Amino acid sequence: MPEQNVFQKIIAGEIPADIVYEDSKCLAFHDIAPQAPTHILVIPRKPIRSVADLEDEDGPLIAHLWSVIRMVADRVGLRNGYRVVVNCGSDGGQEVDHLHYHLLGGRALKWPPG
Ligand code: 5GP
Repeated sequence: MPEQNVFQKIIAGEIPADIVYEDSKCLAFHDIAPQAPTHILVIPRKPIRSVADLEDEDGPLIAHLWSVIRMVADRVGLRNGYRVVVNCGSDGGQEVDHLHYHLLGGRALKWPPG
């Protein structure tokens, strides 16, 4: 069996995470190396490697993840706005091969990203 990546281990409860929300379909937890005052990762429990691996049948799951992102942003008080980032593949800067949404906020974020 292939080695599980870090997010799969968090889903399995094998390594700890500072979880802010979870349900039967997804988890939201604080990034271990925050790039903004608020930096939360929202991930599906389903093992999807990246945006490039999404299938049409994942539509309802993706809609749910966006609902959770909005709810978590509200819950942690990101009243002035926020940014949602999804890195895909090596050129996109993806380091963990499990689909994840970065929810960043708590300061004015610069544009464009590097
Ligand atoms: P990527 O570069 O793949 O888009 O983002 C992966 C993110 O996962 C990075 O922001 C990194 O800091 C975060 N990360 C990596 N390992 C861990 C971990 O063990 N726990 C948590 N909470 N975040 C992690």
